[in-house]
Amino acid sequence: MPDEPSSAAPSRPSHPSHPSRVLVLNSGSSSVKYQLLDMRDRSRLASGLVERIGEQTSLVRHTPLASGGGPRDGAGGRTRERTGPVADHDAALKAMAEELALDGLGLDSPELAAIGHRVVHGGMHFTEPTVIDDAVLDTIERLIPVAPLHNPANLTGIRTAMALRPDLPQIAVFDTAFHTTMPESAARYAIDVQTADEHHVRRYGFHGTSHAYVSRETARLLGKAPEDVNVIVLHLGNGASASAVRGGRCVDTSMGLTPLEGLVMGTRSGDMDPAVIFHLMRVGEMSADEIDTLLNKKSGLVGLCGDNDMREIRRRVEAGDEQAKLAFDIYIHRLKKYIGAYYAVLGRVDAVAFTAGVGENAAPVREAAVAGLTELGLAVDAERNGARGDGSRLISPAGARVAVAVVPTDEEMEIATQTYALAGKRN
Ligand code: ADP
Repeated sequence: MPDEPSSAAPSRPSHPSHPSRVLVLNSGSSSVKYQLLDMRDRSRLASGLVERIGEQTSLVRHTPLASGGGPRDGAGGRTRERTGPVADHDAALKAMAEELALDGLGLDSPELAAIGHRVVHGGMHFTEPTVIDDAVLDTIERLIPVAPLHNPANLTGIRTAMALRPDLPQIAVFDTAFHTTMPESAARYAIDVQTADEHHVRRYGFHGTSHAYVSRETARLLGKAPEDVNVIVLHLGNGASASAVRGGRCVDTSMGLTPLEGLVMGTRSGDMDPAVIFHLMRVGEMSADEIDTLLNKKSGLVGLCGDNDMREIRRRVEAGDEQAKLAFDIYIHRLKKYIGAYYAVLGRVDAVAFTAGVGENAAPVREAAVAGLTELGLAVDAERNGARGDGSRLISPAGARVAVAVVPTDEEMEIATQTYALAGKRN
């Protein structure tokens, strides 16, 4: 792919005195996802991804979006796709810059205010979005032992973007930050304190950007200030986590030291007796790496029934497949346990919010998760739950004591909002 990214088309008219665009980057180990947003009207200008970085068949997919286009539907522009080798993250970001330039949205534009980076693990160090400098890079690097899969990829993306636009504020938004308000009683494991502290073993939680956004949006849906509501957020994607949010602050979440703890997920086991691991080592003669792979990649729904896509699982359940039914039941059982646990943690619950791919789309999951909980004030209205819709919506019966809601998550918008606010403070 060509080296020079930026000169293919003239930039849109610029307003150099008030740069308002934010590029959001989510760099994984073999992929980069991006969105360009204009924070003047919170519109999306473009989105895209580069997948299978380092392979011969890398994919570059880019969608120019009309103002106000949705994050997932690609509304407003024609998607461009090409396959071919993209050697590394440097080449991936150059491919992205090249695509943006074709739409007159080049990275050299004076309208670009900042770049916001999703960083998975900020440990206890980062409680809020942070302007990246050498010290911040060092700290993210020192956290690699607790996030071996994610932080190295995030760092590569940051370093590449910094080389592309060294003059711009580059801001890290951490998946863990929202959860740093958890009290010690929720954040600590009941193990020897000295050992835990020496190895930074505690519950950090993830998906924080989504939990923050969705809990706030839920308050808005209820017509209340975030400080006045208690919400249980159920982020059910391929990875899944629950959180208990009291007055806008997280007080508990289901993921822990790593994203393995908690709910049953697409390929991860979630909660388990830790002794299963020793048992598999001693009796099953499996290595730590083998068990790591088993629990992270071959467990959860895929381990239980061979499929991790809830659509396929529901199709199989409808067709009478017993294995898929058992997987679904185990998934729901765990989810219900967390709803009950967080109800008890919060004491008073104003809303339960479902979000992410499964939470937003799978009505049978939502129905089953609150079935039998009317004593807790929780129920869904069958018609509301079954109706399709894009935006945030209530699915509980009118007048219900506890609102049950579907609230589409928007992590990119949340990262862009936090990035823009911090970049603005600097100027
Ligand atoms: P992640 O970001 O964790 O990869 P998403 O939030 O995009 O995941 O969710 C992906 C999952 O959402 C899919 O694996 C699938 O199980 C589920 N999903 C997507 N659309 C639907 C649908 N219409 N019905 C049921 N499940 C769906």
